[in-house]
Amino acid sequence: MKQYNGKKDFTIEVPKNVKTILSILEGNGFEAFAVGGCVRDAILGRVPDDWDITTSALPQQVKDIFHKTLDTGLQHGTVTVRMGGEGYEVTTYRIDGEYTDGRHPDSVEYTSNLIEDLKRRDFTINAMAYNPSVGLIDAFDGIGDIERKCITCVGEAEQRFHEDALRILRAIRFSAQLGFEVSESTKEAIKKLAPTLEKISAERIHTEMEKLLLSGHPEKFMDAYELGVTEIVFPEFDAMMECPQNTPYHKYDVGRHTVEVMKHVPPQKVIRWAALLHDVGKPKSRLVKDGRDHFYGHAHVGSKMAVEVLRRLKMDNKTIKTVSRLVDCHDDRPTQTEYGMTPEAVRRSVHKIGKDIYELYLQLVDADFQGKSDYGMEKGYDSYCYVKQQYEEIVAQGICTSIKEMDFSGKDLIEIGCPLGEKIGFVLDDLMEIVLKYPEKNKKEILIEEARKLI
Ligand code: ATP
Ligand code: MG
Repeated sequence: MKQYNGKKDFTIEVPKNVKTILSILEGNGFEAFAVGGCVRDAILGRVPDDWDITTSALPQQVKDIFHKTLDTGLQHGTVTVRMGGEGYEVTTYRIDGEYTDGRHPDSVEYTSNLIEDLKRRDFTINAMAYNPSVGLIDAFDGIGDIERKCITCVGEAEQRFHEDALRILRAIRFSAQLGFEVSESTKEAIKKLAPTLEKISAERIHTEMEKLLLSGHPEKFMDAYELGVTEIVFPEFDAMMECPQNTPYHKYDVGRHTVEVMKHVPPQKVIRWAALLHDVGKPKSRLVKDGRDHFYGHAHVGSKMAVEVLRRLKMDNKTIKTVSRLVDCHDDRPTQTEYGMTPEAVRRSVHKIGKDIYELYLQLVDADFQGKSDYGMEKGYDSYCYVKQQYEEIVAQGICTSIKEMDFSGKDLIEIGCPLGEKIGFVLDDLMEIVLKYPEKNKKEILIEEARKLI
């Protein structure tokens, strides 16, 4: 350990299990450090997701020392050590070989020098190591970059992006998670090498894009646009950034409006994807009439495009389905009657959109208003607040808005002699109509009577 000049005055709270692993490795004559994201996050006062450990011990030596291990990534030198009921990735110091494919090294080579291992890491803030007895090893001024709030590559940016193009997207995602700026030299390299993101698998792009989307600064999607990154990984966003909205309802173009909407929904997967994609159909639906822009049918066009985008990113089917439903309905409003907005209109809206996503729909509609002009707000926000309050009533009182929730089923229909076949569906639809109009009629004996009249 003596060869490193650690910053001793730097102390980081290290969890007990991690301390134990570090000291067992040291006790066996090896070097060991917490490294990467956990050190960065601990310095920033953020709670690290996981604690990674880097060591001079070879994978086999790690396996010999610890009782409970798992071969998670032996080809990269990683062994998972179980400690206190949790798993910790312990990786041997390594040097990455040539990158001929722009994705992964052709080979990896172990080394006994920590600094060599830190050199292969992407950004200076991710290239620090810490051990309680040695202190902080910061060979590339990660601390300085944390102070300057700056994302910058370890070494020469162009070369580092050339090795692994995913780092381009990672730079922007870290800037969004931490509220940092990407340094000028790193930005220049991104502009030049963004097209090489073509080589990166959809799964890896998905992971980074989702982290950017769920971050505290989803507006960094606009940086990704300016640097030529979305053009490769999400060209639909470029079309949104380049789509004006010349209407009194809006004050931003579609891209900027989308960013505002993302910022106003909670950082959760489904709703953030829905916010990102809610107006994706607008560029294709734009129609200029009497000097104003109209976007008829954009929600429906957008819901189909959302499916395409998410399939391309290898999103799971359940998320695709829910996001595309939300995009499809985001512009729907309960139909006003001659008496204005009524509880019945809201019940019908919940029936149509679905109780399972209504809460998310309301979040999206609210955020959509926040990204509009004052005129746009004035035109509809009061009515939105009424709908929300009525929806809360529906939930609180358990008011039926779907056939599934009705106090009467297809089975009951058959029992009273309804013929099998499509008639069953028609009668249930008619009963649903009655219940939507008169919620108090959702009682089995009443619905049996009504059903008898219908069969
Ligand atoms: P988080 O886990 O919060 O997303 P992290 O910094 O821990 O952030 P990981 O992807 O878990 O990121 O990677 C752990 C560490 O491995 C990084 O901090 C970095 O040092 C290194 N690393 C990860 N991916 C790359 C890469 N593509 N190129 C170079 N180094 C990388
Ligand atoms: Mg991590």
